Amino acid sequence: MDIAIIGGGAAAVGLLDALAAAEDSGPGTITVFEPSPRLWRGRPYGPDLDAVLVNAPPAIMSIRHGDLGHYAAWLGERGAAHLDPLLGQPLVPRALYGDYLAYTAEKATAALEESGLRVRVEAARVAEATRSGGRLTLRTGDGRAYAATHLALCVGSGAPPDPYGLTGSPGYTGDPYPLARTLDGVCATDDVAIIGSGLTAVDVVVSLAARGHTGRIALLSRSGLLPHVWQRPVDRRPRHLTAERITALYEQRAGSLTLEDLVGLLRAELADAKEDFGEFAAELMAADAEDPARRLRRQLAAVDDPRIGRRMLQEAAHAVGPYAWRLLPDADRARLRQHFRLAVGVASPMVPVNAAVLLRLLESGQLVIAPGVRAIERVNGRANGRFQVHAVRGAGRTADVVVNAVNPAPQSVPDAARHLVQSLGRAGLATPHPGGGLVPADPRLHVVGDLAGGGSFITTSIPGVAAQARRAARALRAS
Ligand SMILES: Cc1cc2nc3c(=O)[nH]c(=O)nc-3n(C[C@H](O)[C@H](O)[C@H](O)COP(=O)(O)OP(=O)(O)OC[C@H]3O[C@@H](n4cnc5c(N)ncnc54)[C@H](O)[C@@H]3O)c2cc1C
Repeated sequence: MDIAIIGGGAAAVGLLDALAAAEDSGPGTITVFEPSPRLWRGRPYGPDLDAVLVNAPPAIMSIRHGDLGHYAAWLGERGAAHLDPLLGQPLVPRALYGDYLAYTAEKATAALEESGLRVRVEAARVAEATRSGGRLTLRTGDGRAYAATHLALCVGSGAPPDPYGLTGSPGYTGDPYPLARTLDGVCATDDVAIIGSGLTAVDVVVSLAARGHTGRIALLSRSGLLPHVWQRPVDRRPRHLTAERITALYEQRAGSLTLEDLVGLLRAELADAKEDFGEFAAELMAADAEDPARRLRRQLAAVDDPRIGRRMLQEAAHAVGPYAWRLLPDADRARLRQHFRLAVGVASPMVPVNAAVLLRLLESGQLVIAPGVRAIERVNGRANGRFQVHAVRGAGRTADVVVNAVNPAPQSVPDAARHLVQSLGRAGLATPHPGGGLVPADPRLHVVGDLAGGGSFITTSIPGVAAQARRAARALRAS
């Protein structure tokens, strides 16, 4: 068996780790192709400012599916230096988490080598895949050819889009990472406008604050909604909102599942905990009508709130969300999409330590949230080479610097993999999913990460990536 793993980020690490755990391994090779200098770290976990933190507590950051303690065990004593006092959990700089991924990849490589598989890394972009008889041939950007029996596509979702066509404008940063480099050209007194109000926008604000920024900061977005704030984990697992219950409902209803069915399961979770579903739902839906500082203050005060509603919804979004999403009718998916920002904010909340920084800046007036952005343009001359932000209502604003904090949608094809994905289609190895992403059309191809077709609009988190990696490893071992 000669496996080619295309892309060397977290998904590739999860896959190597899961392959190393499988018992039977015959002779063969595993070749990992990664053209960037961020081997094993991918886009998020490369070297950066210490203020750029992981977005979740240790149990949710284990790259080993089924072993929630794997990352915590690696972190060990080091965690104490990074404790979020409100959450009571260590939240480390993302670069340190990258060290964990690199360590896991190295351990897996050693175990695989011991069991007879040769593992090598090629610092190259894969540009094309073709079939030649029973074999698959990969061609890299620099023209070299590699033979493989199986392919695992772990290419992530690539670079951010440019929503206002500002690429090339002086003062515009299209991709904020690594913030250690991109914020270097920002003066402490600059008026900074950040496009977006999600977790990446939070990273930018917190990094500016850590660098002692004194100028105005504006978060520009259509909704103006910030992510929710993490609550302390509680020792209670879902009893109703589970894959088993969802499958049972789907079968009972002769192959159909609705959003109301899922709401019914959440209602049952809350009823078990003697919590009022109506109150929970009303609070959730009122999010966009509330003043952002007031909402943030209330959520920071609720980190310890024992009520389980939001925790259950958050866990379900990642644990059973991808499965349930595929069973829902189009109309229900469209209904969920209408609440995109709210759903993403609940599924992927910000960590309390970052929320506290945002609240301080909002209260002092240094940070504002500006919803309803219509357009942004660079105006030379009259406005002194600044950016003009046009709003749907009101006078708009100007900025010296614009930082794009919009992430590519899950299932989008990264530029670096565009030709490869087209060639997989031509070779009959994969087909595009109508909702975005790629579906294998040949048992020798596996997709791990956001490019897997048919997924929802919520970015695959580390547990999701780890679960997919485990499934792909099992299928590879069984073939
Ligand atoms: C900024 C950010 C922060 C995040 N933080 C968290 C978090 O704290 N907790 C959490 O649970 N989740 C987080 N996530 C979500 C999730 O953990 C990451 O998206 C995860 O790292 C995805 O890993 P990946 O390997 O699929 O993709 P990536 O990390 O993007 O890696 C894909 C790799 O494929 C390579 N590649 C692309 N095309 C080719 C090609 N043609 N040939 C060869 N190689 C190619 C790229 O160079 C890249 O290194 C975050 C996501 C982002 C974007």
